[in-house]
Amino acid sequence: MSAVASDPCVDYEAVIGLEVHAELKTKTKMFCGCRNEFGAKPNTNVCPVCLGLPGALPVTNRKAIELAVRFGAAVDAKIGRAVFHRKNYFYPDMPKDFQITQYDEPINAGGKVEILDAGALHTIHLTRAHLEEDTGKSQHQGVSGRIHDATSTLIDYNRAGVPLLEIVSEPDIRTPDQAKQYVNELRAVLGFLDISDVKMEEGSMRVDANVSVRPVGAEAFGVKVEVKNMNSVRSLVRALTYEIERQTVVYREGGRIVQETRHWEEEDGRTHSMRSKEEAADYRYFPEPDLVPITLDQAWIEAISAEVPGVFPSRRAVQLAEQYGFDLDRVASVVYTPGLCDWVEAEIAIGADPLRSLNWASQEVMAHLNETGGEVAGLALSKGVFADLSSLIDDGTLSKKLAREVLTEVLVSGKSPRTVVSEKGLAQISDESELERIVAEVIGANPETIEKIRAGNKKVVGFLVGQVMKATKGAANPEAVHRLIDSRL
Ligand code: ADP
Ligand code: ZN
Ligand code: MG
Repeated sequence: MSAVASDPCVDYEAVIGLEVHAELKTKTKMFCGCRNEFGAKPNTNVCPVCLGLPGALPVTNRKAIELAVRFGAAVDAKIGRAVFHRKNYFYPDMPKDFQITQYDEPINAGGKVEILDAGALHTIHLTRAHLEEDTGKSQHQGVSGRIHDATSTLIDYNRAGVPLLEIVSEPDIRTPDQAKQYVNELRAVLGFLDISDVKMEEGSMRVDANVSVRPVGAEAFGVKVEVKNMNSVRSLVRALTYEIERQTVVYREGGRIVQETRHWEEEDGRTHSMRSKEEAADYRYFPEPDLVPITLDQAWIEAISAEVPGVFPSRRAVQLAEQYGFDLDRVASVVYTPGLCDWVEAEIAIGADPLRSLNWASQEVMAHLNETGGEVAGLALSKGVFADLSSLIDDGTLSKKLAREVLTEVLVSGKSPRTVVSEKGLAQISDESELERIVAEVIGANPETIEKIRAGNKKVVGFLVGQVMKATKGAANPEAVHRLIDSRL
């Protein structure tokens, strides 16, 4: 790659592979009976097994195996044996001095995830999705919370031994935006299947990014750098964008990239060299002697696979866009929120207008969820909210604008649309005599505008309609207003 690297005219493209760690939603840890819970008092969920005390023996958590199989089935992986290895290294948050993980026989091999990319489905292949145990958490005491200026460090072993699924992608990702879509897709699938909490802020989903750049058109990959410490999708995109630019500049200036691990620093928006990359040989992997390999019963795998809905959000968005002529971006904003798309489809099935329902879901409902931090499942709403709103628009009771106000109120109060309309007196004014009075008033108050209209400037009619809407606080039926103004001029 160096032959062309220093040519300033060469364009570079990124090659990205992601390693996603998802904490599994089990009641207990991977190899012991300690509770798996976030936020407990430090060092209360610990025992001889997860503290690595001499003589303690691990026992594999069946639920963790089941959740890993569920994921494997969803992504079409080859589901094999569960063989555990020891990965040996020292770190204070890892009391055993080795991590139990999977090496050459991961429970899930291969598989694929489809993402939305530039309005179409795009496949990202998976290398593997294996089981391993999490480490404890170091809390560096000091102003920055970083190790370099810490006065001391406290360690919480509650997380040590929590089951993790490590999902490794092939280097199929080319842009920060694709990386974002991929993480969104994985997060949705892991959440929908109840495999993980997938909260990046709380650390139940963590993403490490491997990134290299190469001249556009080159086949060989460049030297890769692993970037860690991004705790939101937004940081992931920022970190990748920064790192791609950094590597491109190094090559343009004739330099070379060294294989290393870099730390993303949210504050300065840069990646910083952390350590040179370890090789697999450094870890002295060997089969865990205290655990037998687990051979999975084929019928059990099939039973789990049968429960896994095969449809990914990306695919569902494309299907719905085709079926109803929806704008793909608009549907995409709905499919990643658990339960929202099911809700829209259920309402359409009982007569709700498809496009209006989609718009309500992507705007009012999403706004409400964002504001309250709530979930669709928690919205105690009666069936037929969108269907009722649709018919209230169709029979002239509500304008589209009023329907949105009613929906906002429905979401807050849990009342039915019809109840909100009658309680708030929100029905649109279709009573012609009332409207006629207001139209006459507005016409009387705007003689100059009337003159312009009479002189042939039809465009200013809109101004009059606006004045009537204003006088009625948006409750007039705009079509009726138009008609009444026309008939008077
Ligand atoms: P390592 O031996 O360093 O762990 P792997 O081959 O196991 O490397 O790959 C780890 C991750 O890095 C995978 O997600 C893979 O897709 C990605 N990857 C591998 N080579 C490259 C590359 N040249 N550029 C970017 N990502 C890469
Ligand atoms: Zn334990
Ligand atoms: Mg590797």
